[in-house]
Amino acid sequence: MADKIKMTTPLVEMDGDEMTRIIWKQIKDICIEPFVELKTEYYDLSLPNREKTGDQVTLDAALRTKELGVAVKCATITPNAQRMEEYNLTKMWKSPNGTIRATLDGTVFRAPILVDGIKPFVSCWKKPITIARHAYGDVYRDTEFAVQGPCRAELTLKFPDGREDSSTIFEFDGNGIVQGLYNTDKSITAFAKSCFNYALDTKQSLWFATKDTISKTYDHRFKDIFAEVYEKEYKDKFEAAGIEYFYTLIDDAVARVMRSEGGFVWALKNYDGDVMSDMLASACGSLAMMTSVLVSPDGKYEYEAAHGTVTRHYYRYLKGEKTSTNPVATLFAWSGALRKRAQMDGLSDLEDFADRLEKATLDTIGQGIITGDLNSLLDREDKKVVNTEEFLTAISERI
Ligand code: NAP
Ligand code: MG
Repeated sequence: MADKIKMTTPLVEMDGDEMTRIIWKQIKDICIEPFVELKTEYYDLSLPNREKTGDQVTLDAALRTKELGVAVKCATITPNAQRMEEYNLTKMWKSPNGTIRATLDGTVFRAPILVDGIKPFVSCWKKPITIARHAYGDVYRDTEFAVQGPCRAELTLKFPDGREDSSTIFEFDGNGIVQGLYNTDKSITAFAKSCFNYALDTKQSLWFATKDTISKTYDHRFKDIFAEVYEKEYKDKFEAAGIEYFYTLIDDAVARVMRSEGGFVWALKNYDGDVMSDMLASACGSLAMMTSVLVSPDGKYEYEAAHGTVTRHYYRYLKGEKTSTNPVATLFAWSGALRKRAQMDGLSDLEDFADRLEKATLDTIGQGIITGDLNSLLDREDKKVVNTEEFLTAISERI
């Protein structure tokens, strides 16, 4: 075999839990390390090690990502009451993804991996649609009251110099509900920049939509900030790349998306993104075929799969069964991270490897070799359902 491909800067490698932790090692052993002299800085984000380090390992990994620029992350358990018992935890540790997102101040981009033979339910979608969800504020950080009327609900701003600005929301003559929302120019600007950077990076047009005709101040602020950032920093770069920035109303956007061919980035406010990303994932068939990347406004990247640790498969694995868990999204997290590292460091053979790894994966499925979850989605007689290890071996042979 030819010499292995060399790396210069290490990736930040964040290992995780359960079935995805098993797959993580198999991917490296079978599909990457035979070809690449892999360089990583390893952080073990498994729940037992988060417990052991008082979750310091998560923060360390996130901070190191800020320095090195590119990370690849395995799915991790976000503990709940049942996990406290199962893992004998001293504390219900916070979601690692939450910690990483807070440290990098990023936006999450999610895109389905489309394969020949597996058709999205929306038949006109030929290319993937990437959803960029603003993950800060709005209804996720709101203040709500159940109103026992009659009463007047007011919105008041109190300034440090004692000045006040107040407005009546509604005069209740009976019972009802009222809600207060906020967002910040800083967060919206960071969101906008992440979206413009990602669109440029992937050479896809950017769509953004809000309800600014109804929410004339709140949603309009989102629209204005996107427009200002675009005019000031991105217009020329977009024109040079042959892509466009397109703003429309959210209901118009939904109608256009359903009639589109795909192949663009769709930026959405927090709630809209929550709803639309589940719509997109189910329209495209399988959670195991959704990639996810966190991009910070200053251009740091953290790649992962959109699914969790696939607990049910793990319990079967512990009983000695061979499972047919789909490794594609985790594999694409690795190829995405390697490609980004290659581009940052100017390593064309590493970039070429990332392309070949993805093509070999799509070819394997295209030739009918699949994991169990894809069985009902692929309509052909000669398909062959294999276990995870056999699937990865088939990919490796095609690289
Ligand atoms: P999940 O791990 O995504 O799995 C839910 C179900 O979806 C599985 O039982 C399986 O269905 C199917 N599935 C998901 N990924 C698959 C794959 N790669 N191949 C084949 N089938 C796949 O979600 P969950 O069971 O709700 O959560 C499990 C743990 O993951 C939780 O502790 C949660 O905290 C964590 N989680 C982590 C992240 C993250 O780190 N980003 C995200 C979400 C959840 P069948 O059993 O029917 O085959
Ligand atoms: Mg949701």
